[in-house]
Amino acid sequence: MSQENKKFYQQTRVERLDTLVNQGIISDSDKELYQKTPLLTEDVANSLIENQISQFPLPEGVALNFIIDGEKKVIPMVVEEPSVIAACSNSAKILSRNGFSTSISKRELIGQIILKDIPDIEAAKLKIEKNKDQIFTLAKEAHPSIHSRGGGLKDFYVKIIKDTTITDKEFLTVYLLIETKDAMGANIINTILEGLTPFILELTNGASLMSILSNYNTEALVTATCEVPLTDLETKNFSGQELGQKIAEASLYAKLDPHRAATHNKGIMNGIDSVVIATGNDPRAVEAGAHAFASKNGRYQGMTNWEVVEDNLVGELTLPMVLGTVGGAISVLPLAKSNLELLGVTTSEELSRIVLCVGLAQNFAALRALVSDGIQKGHMSLHASSLAIQVGAQNEEIEIIANQLRLAPKMNSAIAKELLMTLRDK
Ligand code: NDP
Repeated sequence: MSQENKKFYQQTRVERLDTLVNQGIISDSDKELYQKTPLLTEDVANSLIENQISQFPLPEGVALNFIIDGEKKVIPMVVEEPSVIAACSNSAKILSRNGFSTSISKRELIGQIILKDIPDIEAAKLKIEKNKDQIFTLAKEAHPSIHSRGGGLKDFYVKIIKDTTITDKEFLTVYLLIETKDAMGANIINTILEGLTPFILELTNGASLMSILSNYNTEALVTATCEVPLTDLETKNFSGQELGQKIAEASLYAKLDPHRAATHNKGIMNGIDSVVIATGNDPRAVEAGAHAFASKNGRYQGMTNWEVVEDNLVGELTLPMVLGTVGGAISVLPLAKSNLELLGVTTSEELSRIVLCVGLAQNFAALRALVSDGIQKGHMSLHASSLAIQVGAQNEEIEIIANQLRLAPKMNSAIAKELLMTLRDK
């Protein structure tokens, strides 16, 4: 079959890269970089982490069919789990009639200066609030460049933190709202906090417990929504109305039961983390914020909302999302830069919007499978190649064994081994 007649997933890796070049999605030089999948230089690897002994490769693929705020997007994803990228692309295709829409209200991060052992806590709170001008001046002095970029300290508030059901101790915390433009901003914030802490201590006569950013980014919420006609959901075994209703009920159930919510949200993070990693961002920071937000109502809940509205299924995902397109590891990981180019984004906000859409698509895929055929059918079919490799299949044996496994009544390593032995005996 010629390359033009093959679907993207049927093409070889090099053919896929050629397709992306022909569609103007990547440049020839990026194609070369993707094709080589270079290791990090020894200097970079050594500077990123401590006690470095090796490098640990993960596969990268692209999700297709996304239309986000009216623009087509091809999305790089780095993930070790089979079926994540296929499911994501398939969802985006089903949802493509209207695509995804996104919104962001603002993007301010929160830094905390946490104080203890304050002699008069109410007076200390007032004193901090009265010294607004000096606090803004010191923040600017601590990190002039982020302020000259239009970011930096935007506001602050002070809270007495006390809960006698846990302890009699009380703390005074200054919450600083800081805009970090296109950087994830952890270092920027920590620098500003450390610049301010001595002055805050002087005002309060207290002691410092710590000064650090919060990953619970409640002032940097991003929303993705989608709306699909129920008729587009119809399958061989289910009407669109029935499937839409069950998807809505599945998202409702995840609000009620934390055991289900955890798995519901894990599916969302399958998509989100894959793009976060592909762009050199910090998945632990994103996970921490997302799961904290999932508990905002006092109990851990599913992150998405799906509803049948008239003849449509409407989906929504809102999460704190603070990503960088500069700084951190992004500037030193060569493929992170290429992946940002592939996405066609330069700003943190653009990247965050895309990541939320991927999370919503991933959740749609999981719910659609769970309330219809179950998740194993599609998952195991894509897992077949990994199983073949696990039992020792090599080169063309991998696809032969994987295909035989897909047709077999059961799929496990014993059967895969048997099939491989039979193949080799032929
Ligand atoms: P960096 O300090 O590496 O990058 C930020 C710097 O990039 C800015 O100070 C600015 O410096 C420069 N810059 C260039 N262009 C822009 C732009 N358009 N917008 C904003 N800044 C720009 O990284 P971050 O502060 O983003 O910190 C991220 C790292 O911190 C990640 O690696 C993360 O893992 C880590 N981290 C995370 C923590 C957490 O999540 N709890 C805690 C501690 C660290 P200049 O103006 O001088 O050019």
